[in-house]
Amino acid sequence: MRYILFQEALTLGRIDKGVKCSISGCSSEAVRSISAEKVRSAGLKIGSSEKRAYLCKQHYKEYKKKTKKDKQIEKWRYSG
Ligand SMILES: [Zn+2]
Repeated sequence: MRYILFQEALTLGRIDKGVKCSISGCSSEAVRSISAEKVRSAGLKIGSSEKRAYLCKQHYKEYKKKTKKDKQIEKWRYSG
């Protein structure tokens, strides 16, 4: 588990101020930059050509919630 958290920390980039959230329909200021692939696999909608996704506070929370759920499923799968 510790390893996963470390890896996650590495993928969270710092971003410049004034960058907007990549989620379609959201214009809030982004606080985190994450691999677009990860964001898509979490079920969040971003532009198809994006390689990096910029998430605002709210969408980052949503992303975290969804990835947490995924991890729980993975854990459950491993133990079963
Ligand atoms: Zn947003």
